[in-house]
Amino acid sequence: MKTIDLVIIGGGSAGMAAAVSAYDQGIRDILILERSDVLGGILNQCIHNGFGLHEFKEELTGPEFLFRFVDQVKERKIPYELQATVLSISPNKVVSYISPKGSFEIQAKALVVATGCYERSAGAIGMPGERPAGVISAGQAQLYLNQHGYLVGKKVFILGSGDIGLIMARRMTLEGAKVLGVAELMPYSNGLERNIQQCLKDFNIPLYLSHTVTNVIGKGKLEAIEISQVDEHLQPVKGTEKRFDVDTLLLSIGLIPNNGLLDKMGAKKGKTRGSEVDDSLETTIPGVFSCGNVLHVHDLVDYVVAEGKTAGISAAKYLKGEEKGHKEIETIAGPGIGYVVPSRVNVEDKEGSVELKFRVSRPSKNVYVEYSQGDKVLMKVLKLAIIPSEMEIFKLPKKLLINDQEPIKVSLVAKE
Ligand SMILES: Cc1cc2nc3c(=O)[nH]c(=O)nc-3n(C[C@H](O)[C@H](O)[C@H](O)COP(=O)(O)OP(=O)(O)OC[C@H]3O[C@@H](n4cnc5c(N)ncnc54)[C@H](O)[C@@H]3O)c2cc1C
Repeated sequence: MKTIDLVIIGGGSAGMAAAVSAYDQGIRDILILERSDVLGGILNQCIHNGFGLHEFKEELTGPEFLFRFVDQVKERKIPYELQATVLSISPNKVVSYISPKGSFEIQAKALVVATGCYERSAGAIGMPGERPAGVISAGQAQLYLNQHGYLVGKKVFILGSGDIGLIMARRMTLEGAKVLGVAELMPYSNGLERNIQQCLKDFNIPLYLSHTVTNVIGKGKLEAIEISQVDEHLQPVKGTEKRFDVDTLLLSIGLIPNNGLLDKMGAKKGKTRGSEVDDSLETTIPGVFSCGNVLHVHDLVDYVVAEGKTAGISAAKYLKGEEKGHKEIETIAGPGIGYVVPSRVNVEDKEGSVELKFRVSRPSKNVYVEYSQGDKVLMKVLKLAIIPSEMEIFKLPKKLLINDQEPIKVSLVAKE
């Protein structure tokens, strides 16, 4: 069986950034395995602008952004194989994949898993009503429209106010469809504020907060949907039904890390539904790293790329046999916090800072984000507004830590 130093699974933004940074650290024996026909991942279909403000200090479309990384991969002549779908990875890093050339097994010395995320489906939320054609995820509709030039419908309703749904509300409108509204189960939007303004308000598309779809009507083809208001327990309120005659229902009801390969390999799962990692992005399996949306769903690709670079550098260090520090402490998501990445941070040296990424579990105003160890509050940062749709990144100076045993807890605390 062929042995390769570093195998990268997934040639999206995270995987390409990992490959480039590992190469720049001196690793030459690299292979990127990508299941689709092209490198770049989901950004191939994100033709709107707004990418790259952090990474390149300019505003790019998704394809412009990804081509900068494709160029970097090609300049370095990093090998990649397209239409190569990884089916499994054994605990000792044997990667099994298929491609039009056949089925293969390769032994990896180190692995970066960068397989992105997938969209939650109608079945996952037990949507009531019929199952006609015309109910489709927003990302799939985006793929049809932006890559195949096919508009999936003319009269559209959108369930879920995640960013992809908001962007598709604008995109379908610009292509001549009528978007009748967006329903959101929660009393707040799950998308970025700028997308609410630019994709809904600028096009007079109503947003129904605290509403959900309570009926899907149509034999064979979608004819109409009904939405209802929900109460504080998120249960539909009888008598509040509104009917919309539509041919398409787009679902933008959440993204889930595509972590099956790492799960089956036995990597410990984290709160994000991705794997648990330390601050080098190493999973609980030595030499196996995870980054990008497979680790936790990001709002900006710039942060995905930064994570990919960290994974590439860490994989290079592992391959060179560089020792990590041995003093690790855990991180904990306290009250009001959905998750914290990484799950463990190395505090061997007291220089620099610990980078913590997290999301709050509900929108809040005038609150403190508190960083503590045991009973000791290390730092409190006032937030005038904080929302779950925006990932927070905070660098906690290591010199504030009181010891190298107790976990670092991140909590949301009300301002007195
Ligand atoms: C529909 C959709 C629209 C989005 N729109 C935006 C946006 O407008 N702006 C924004 O900043 N972010 C957007 N995002 C978030 C976006 O996913 C990230 O910003 C970033 O592109 C994720 O990079 P990634 O490399 O982690 O994942 P991806 O770009 O998804 O790349 C993962 C790659 O892994 C490959 N892969 C998966 N499984 C296997 C396997 N078993 N074997 C081989 N290859 C595999 C996939 O084919 C894919 O190319 C969107 C996400 C989705 C799902």
